[in-house]
Amino acid sequence: MFLWRALSGALAIAERLNSRGMGVEPNCKICHGSTESINHVLFQCSAALQLWSGAGFTLPSFVMAHSLEENFSYVFNLMEDSNRPQSLIRTIPWVLWLIWKNRNSILYADTQESMERLLRAMSDEVEQWFLLNNTPSPATDLSGRLEDRDKWCPPASGFIKCNIHANWRNVHLHSGVAWIARDQAGNVSHHARDAIIHAPNHMVAELRCVIWALSSLRDLGVPRVIIAIDYHKVLEAINAPRQWPRFGDLLEQVVNFKEVFESLVFEGEKVSANGIPRDIAKIVLRDGRFHSYLAFGGPSWLHDRIAR
Ligand SMILES: [Zn+2]
Repeated sequence: MFLWRALSGALAIAERLNSRGMGVEPNCKICHGSTESINHVLFQCSAALQLWSGAGFTLPSFVMAHSLEENFSYVFNLMEDSNRPQSLIRTIPWVLWLIWKNRNSILYADTQESMERLLRAMSDEVEQWFLLNNTPSPATDLSGRLEDRDKWCPPASGFIKCNIHANWRNVHLHSGVAWIARDQAGNVSHHARDAIIHAPNHMVAELRCVIWALSSLRDLGVPRVIIAIDYHKVLEAINAPRQWPRFGDLLEQVVNFKEVFESLVFEGEKVSANGIPRDIAKIVLRDGRFHSYLAFGGPSWLHDRIAR
């Protein structure tokens, strides 16, 4: 019940505050209908029920009478129900988290996004989390390294391998850019996505993506980095900048990073081995997600539950 403990610890709920003698209004500030307990906020409040149902779960009426532990057991058992679509039940931890975040933004930030938007953002997060965490295991990669490079290969021990991609279409449209950093075990340490504008061609978009990824990795204090790119012209230019005067300014910025890192290597990657950053960069354009976004691995509060 890691998630339950994490949430219980985080929720500043009227019932809990009052049990410590803080004397706050005991009723739910959203529906005003009942005492504001954790159980109420997550499973019984009208705002929660709306999000559960919007996400595709009709909670049975017994949740109103059941305890918090019973309600958690009920939804966690749903996650193991093989008769339901996997794509649906795997969202359950995110739905709980969304209900909690939504309550906070209504109460403290005084804003409420439409339910459709919230749910869309949530399923994007879920999709991305599973995309990032379905990386091949190091055991299968070892044979990949020996036989072919069609699959993603992990870096040597002590290095972080950062796969990047810029989804450039034309000078007028935004380009989605993404990077994902993994260690020798294939674990994701960070990933990020952003949108850039006014890139006149694919080359400029990729170079700006390289600079953005390197700046982030420098700020994160990563010492040894491999940048893996599937647009091979960029590699040629980085290796022989004087032959590419048109991109001189950008190339100079890239080359200057060699002094920032203990080790900085640029590697060619096959398109087939670069699928994850390509997919993330696509999401930027497909869903109009133009705000920048940087995350540590997947949401850490979920690891325990997912592993189980
Ligand atoms: Zn309520």
